Amino acid sequence: MNQVRVILVLLLLMAAIIATPQTTQSNHMLAFDGENAMDYLVQQCDFGPRPPGSDNLTQCKTYIASTLESFGWNVTFQEFTYLEVECSNIIATWPDAEQPSYILGAHYDTRPRADQDPEPANTMTPIIGANDGASGVAVLLELASGLPVDVRESVEIVLFDAEDSGLINGWNWIVGSTHYVNQLSPTRVSEIDAMILVDMVGDSELRLERETSSTRSLQDLIWSIADEMGHNDTFLDVSGRSILDDHRPFLDAGIPSVDIIQHNGFPWYWHTLEDTPDKCSAESLQTVGEVVETFLIDYANDNLTLPPNDDSLFYLSLLVVPVVVIGLVYLYLKRR
Ligand SMILES: [Zn+2]
Repeated sequence: MNQVRVILVLLLLMAAIIATPQTTQSNHMLAFDGENAMDYLVQQCDFGPRPPGSDNLTQCKTYIASTLESFGWNVTFQEFTYLEVECSNIIATWPDAEQPSYILGAHYDTRPRADQDPEPANTMTPIIGANDGASGVAVLLELASGLPVDVRESVEIVLFDAEDSGLINGWNWIVGSTHYVNQLSPTRVSEIDAMILVDMVGDSELRLERETSSTRSLQDLIWSIADEMGHNDTFLDVSGRSILDDHRPFLDAGIPSVDIIQHNGFPWYWHTLEDTPDKCSAESLQTVGEVVETFLIDYANDNLTLPPNDDSLFYLSLLVVPVVVIGLVYLYLKRR
């Protein structure tokens, strides 16, 4: 029976090695500065409420684009019309970068109505969206300024329009990201290794549970990096809920994607007039920023390769089980 034990132990070891993501961190100095990110958050809010089609959003779009350009990025606008409203995604790539394999996303529009506001008189008024809108963009702007150049070449930053007007005047949610993914060719889809979305990451008491529609293997990598950095009080190893957000069209296209979002439940001021910068903190933006920065330094410049995604692990387990069973039967018969 000793041979059986040895084989079993070897197979278990194999399975453990396959299932454990590599989390070795590179020795890059981290550049992310939460105070800078907080400035970007406040500057977006200074334009006022920013619903799709508004002058405020157009001004904010110009501000985001010129900020990215000041860090050396090429910026283009992907324009489209939805229900007769002119919308525009903002796309930033590093000059001369070819087919960047990592997409960083956030939405830059804000909800046209404070429909969760407890004060009935406020529910038709548009929100400032400090946390719901500006916080994700702020993290991406600060990443754009500090990522090492070899990482920037592997990254495309996309700021989505028209995420947050769902159920108002016949609008859907996630309109900008849906348009973006619909425009991708099959070849381009196959070149993208991962999509990371940051949304509502600014709350001063940030709690990030695991969004359950996200790609688990990719989420494991990010959460284990956060754990190694001592941020397991923010990146909670707890299952949250499944959220309809800008990562969904990417998942539907077969692209591994993770939504980093405070969602279980939403902060008390969500979709109210109270979603203002005083609810957010530089520390929370710092935590999220440095975790994403470390992930990109480790993976986006090919220092480490991503583990196989959840599907291939499943098929591998289908292979391992029969091998174990056949091995055991063979040894049992041999002993008799
Ligand atoms: Zn929202």
